[in-house]
Amino acid sequence: MNECQKCGSDTRMQVNVVISAPGDLAHNLSKRNLRSKDVFIMGVKWETADFICTNAKCRHVTIGYGNYVSNLEKEKDKLFQQLKNLTIQCEKVVKWKHLMSYNDSYLGEPNGDLKRAIYDIDRVMSAK
Ligand SMILES: [Zn+2]
Repeated sequence: MNECQKCGSDTRMQVNVVISAPGDLAHNLSKRNLRSKDVFIMGVKWETADFICTNAKCRHVTIGYGNYVSNLEKEKDKLFQQLKNLTIQCEKVVKWKHLMSYNDSYLGEPNGDLKRAIYDIDRVMSAK
């Protein structure tokens, strides 16, 4: 982590640190206040560590312990996209539902779209 994985230059680390400080220092953690005897580090959230290449032409970021905040954000976006796709497919199914006969065969549905919609839903649901 002390060397860039891409170019081998030195890295700088950015990591969330939990400090304990008097309440009246809220929004006032100046460098001077951080040196106060009343202020101390309780722990480091290593899961938030990023290692950033110091080479201006590279700036590669290595995510040290897996940045759970950005990972959750990406996961959320992925799930929303999946939900959006499923909603579109379900709307298609509902639209064509009235074309189905009593034995679930379908009539008059254009270009096999219903079959494709059901196939897409099966595929997405079994992916997770
Ligand atoms: Zn680099």
